Amino acid sequence: MRLFNTMTRRVEEFAPAGGRRVGLYTCGPTVYNYAHIGNFRTYVFEDVLRRHLRYSGYDVFQVMNITDVDDKTIRGSRNAGIPLKDYTKPFTDAFFSDLKTLGIEPAEVYPAATDHVEDMISMILKLIEKKHAYVSSDGCVYYDVGSFPAYGKLAHLDFNGLRSGSRVAHDEYDKENLADFALWKAWDEEDGDVAWDSPWGRGRPGWHIECSAMSIRHLGETFDIHTGGVDNIFPHHENEIAQSEGATGRQFVRYWVHSEHLQVEGRKMAKSFGNFYTLREVLEKGYSGREVRYVLISGHYRQKLNFTFAALDAARPTLARLDECRARLAALAGASKPGDAPGWARAGDAAFGAAMDDDLNVPEALAAVFGVVHEANRAIDSGAMGAGAASAVEALFDKWDTVLNVLRAPEVEPPAEVLELAEQRAAARAAKMWDEADRLRAKLTGLGWEIRDTAEGAKLKPRQQ
Ligand code: AMP
Ligand code: ZN
Repeated sequence: MRLFNTMTRRVEEFAPAGGRRVGLYTCGPTVYNYAHIGNFRTYVFEDVLRRHLRYSGYDVFQVMNITDVDDKTIRGSRNAGIPLKDYTKPFTDAFFSDLKTLGIEPAEVYPAATDHVEDMISMILKLIEKKHAYVSSDGCVYYDVGSFPAYGKLAHLDFNGLRSGSRVAHDEYDKENLADFALWKAWDEEDGDVAWDSPWGRGRPGWHIECSAMSIRHLGETFDIHTGGVDNIFPHHENEIAQSEGATGRQFVRYWVHSEHLQVEGRKMAKSFGNFYTLREVLEKGYSGREVRYVLISGHYRQKLNFTFAALDAARPTLARLDECRARLAALAGASKPGDAPGWARAGDAAFGAAMDDDLNVPEALAAVFGVVHEANRAIDSGAMGAGAASAVEALFDKWDTVLNVLRAPEVEPPAEVLELAEQRAAARAAKMWDEADRLRAKLTGLGWEIRDTAEGAKLKPRQQ
């Protein structure tokens, strides 16, 4: 498979350093608020990357950090008047629940920054020893960007070997303000009781050192892929490179892959612009996690994607067309094992694989999927589809769905009223009250539910329309 590497600015053939194992680091959420669907565009893209790597036969070891201490989380906990941990916990929990809603496969490890402060301190000590960092008179430690000649190589900025001289204590700043950045921030009143002991006195880590320390701890000094949204390129990832390569003297990351932003009316969706929707807000309007995921993956990850409710509205009939085709295939296939797939399905499979291998071209992969939907409907309409072929096409949809995870209608949970009726029916059957059991079955049918008696008991299924 090929991926666009931000470092070389080229689409490159991907090959991991260690056989089939791929080390993947994905910058995680700052848990000071609910993540918005712009953030989730990036997490869903990373999920598709992870899933396609697995589809391609690799063993993925993914690390996603949880930034639970930084300028923003500290400010939030102060404003709320509660301890940092109490403040970040509900947002961390909400994040994991949102990942589930969007069908995102869990990473292997979710390290929290607050559990890795010792690693950060060790790395800062190494950077001081190697003269990449210095302690300022107020007990902060800064990275000397002038000490790292390659600084700017990821963002493709030429700083002409200039020493910056100036310093920036905030975690976030822009390219125009090149400066020595903070690795360790001495405690001040704003920090309240958030502080750790260090060789430089009490204080806390800067945001950038967190990812360097946690990625190296869990993936080693050099690993295969590091991702994030394009806003992470500078300064966050540039600083990660300066810190990690400065400390180890070795290449930090082999492939840098960044996804473009989700926009609203031509502007990046961002909390600071106030133009954002959380996933919760979108679900409250009646959209499903599957519909949101579909919209988020439907544009190529390296192109800006404009968020509109019209796009979400359009997802519903599109997915319904797919579900309907799959229901027809399933009905035809019955219990048949997959036979030979028809030629058009094999061609669709080849097109799907080629699109995904080509820098994760999901729009083209989806076009291949819907091409197969079209052909399958035609073949069924004309009576040309046998059970074995239908089963083979169904198996292909399932295979592709290990990557896209939007191709199968989610199981619908029966409502409480339906469950209640099913229980009454089971009781009636146990008491051999067959008329009553039949009456309850008819009632369930009227509510849109079918009941089937199997060896493991009665099973409820929504009736096909
Ligand atoms: P943060 O919690 O601000 O550190 O952001 C978490 C992730 O979301 C990072 O990888 C960002 O690059 C990404 N991100 C932030 N805003 C957007 C957006 N509008 N579209 C896509 N990704 C975004
Ligand atoms: Zn990071």
